Amino acid sequence: MIELLFLLLPVAAGYGWIMGRNSERSRHRHSHNPSSRSSSYLVSDEYIHEYLKSLKGKATDLDFFCRQLVDTATSLVRQGKVDTAVALVEQAIKDEKISSPDVLCFLAKQYTAMGLLARAENTLLPLLKRSKSRAHAIGPLLRVYQSLKTWTNSLSLFQEHSDDFRSDDLHIVSHHICEYANHEETSAQKSSLLDIALGAAPNNVRAMLEKAQCEIELGHLNIAQELLSAARRTSGLYRILELEKALYHQLNEPDDYLSILIQFTLDKPNLSAILFMLDNYHEQLNIEHIEDILQSCQQASIEKEARQLILRWYIITHFEESHFLRQMVQHDLEKHSAYRCQNCGFSTPSFSWNCPSCNQWDTLHLKLI
Ligand SMILES: [Zn+2]
Repeated sequence: MIELLFLLLPVAAGYGWIMGRNSERSRHRHSHNPSSRSSSYLVSDEYIHEYLKSLKGKATDLDFFCRQLVDTATSLVRQGKVDTAVALVEQAIKDEKISSPDVLCFLAKQYTAMGLLARAENTLLPLLKRSKSRAHAIGPLLRVYQSLKTWTNSLSLFQEHSDDFRSDDLHIVSHHICEYANHEETSAQKSSLLDIALGAAPNNVRAMLEKAQCEIELGHLNIAQELLSAARRTSGLYRILELEKALYHQLNEPDDYLSILIQFTLDKPNLSAILFMLDNYHEQLNIEHIEDILQSCQQASIEKEARQLILRWYIITHFEESHFLRQMVQHDLEKHSAYRCQNCGFSTPSFSWNCPSCNQWDTLHLKLI
């Protein structure tokens, strides 16, 4: 038995040597011209070095080099080879001392997606020092701060570099400041932060509403009234109506409120506002009001089901004091309505300003499902 083993050993060693030589050859063959190969061959450190060397040979200037680098890395990410893409870009940055915002932002975006948030932040912060690259870094940095929920950082970023914010970033930072304001204790503190949020994005309905709420609490009813009527001009959110209800209750002017409510539903017919009105004010509504509302729903092409719900609700509240029917309609409403994200389609029964699925702001809208 032992003799047999000794006999087989040289055979196995010889086989190993031949296989090793073959793979060496094939590696040599493949590495002959790395730039002509597809990026899917980039799997080891050695290939990364070769690829970068050949890219440098072809590149007429650093801009060209960076563009090609980001293109290759992007296609690697699309193939699911995120680790390789990151290793490639990291190596290029190290070798060539790259400070191009496109390359650094690409890398930071990958770090953020991988949850390496401190690394993403450290990659982006140097870009803030140069005025030319600052605007590039702001959006990705805000995404990092949003994941970390470090709203104070977003606020400082805005206060230091507000001139370099793009309009999308202004909208996002305005929400971040609202989140920050929610953690403050007093209405006065909240209100002054919300002023900054409104300074960043004057059309941010959330900032208007949250500030109006503070002002109602502080007894500044005129300021709240102005904010809410501005919000009403911008948006059809039923939360405006809720706050106006609280405001007009304090002002003791219920009739004014009802006419605002009806006008609101006619101007900006939408499901949540209509349901709010039916729920809270069905006793004051007459058949003319309902006809007007149905007509504006039709013009705004609100779903057929919504119009049916309005009619059924009206019939139940006015002609049939049946507890059972009322429960049925309520059940239908709960079952059929949900907040759906206009960006990613995510559905949730409860409202939030930020979509839990895609992290976009202001994208959840009430829908019948
Ligand atoms: Zn979404």
